[in-house]
Amino acid sequence: MRKLKEKILAEGRVLSDSVLKVDSFLNHQVDPEFALELGREIAGRFAGSSVTKVLTVEASGIAVALTTGLALQVPVVFAKKKKAATQDPGSYCSHIFSFTKQEAVDIYVNKSFIHSGDRVLIVDDFLAQGEALRGMVEIVRQAGATLVGVGIVIEKVFQGGGQALREMGVRIESLAPIASLAGGVVKFAE
Ligand code: 5GP
Repeated sequence: MRKLKEKILAEGRVLSDSVLKVDSFLNHQVDPEFALELGREIAGRFAGSSVTKVLTVEASGIAVALTTGLALQVPVVFAKKKKAATQDPGSYCSHIFSFTKQEAVDIYVNKSFIHSGDRVLIVDDFLAQGEALRGMVEIVRQAGATLVGVGIVIEKVFQGGGQALREMGVRIESLAPIASLAGGVVKFAE
């Protein structure tokens, strides 16, 4: 998506060889018009897939998940994060390691919000090592729902999370795949 790539180049800040900050439009301040465009783009890529629910994880995925759900006219569920493991029988729960916080967290979704008949599209802001995604895929599996695919705004391809999930047969659409951040330079993948 050309406009997204231009925005990353203009406003993104490379903090290290593996971390990109896009706080001005995605992760801290949100540009609502642009979030709508991102949501429409993801929704368009999964048009005809009969999605019944969009799933993300708090907090940064929520804005784009919301606009994707708006475009697809389906509800949006965000998994909540908890530090300590709590096996609530009323929730699906998965254990993940947070890339940005460098800590283990549990993510959970109340069982009343995803059912076995659901066709779920997972949406997130970033895909790095794939932990967040793996946790959400696990929740879809626990619900017995169908995973239609994954829509990602920025995929850092060099961190390998996408490859591992694609090898498991998961369809992942990334709007801006990044091949490298080495030397403070954003290089997009083909
Ligand atoms: P993963 O679980 O794939 O390793 O990391 C995904 C999560 O970590 C995303 O939901 C995102 O919130 C955060 N994240 C990973 N890499 C970056 C990054 O370079 N910049 C920012 N702002 N967040 C990131």
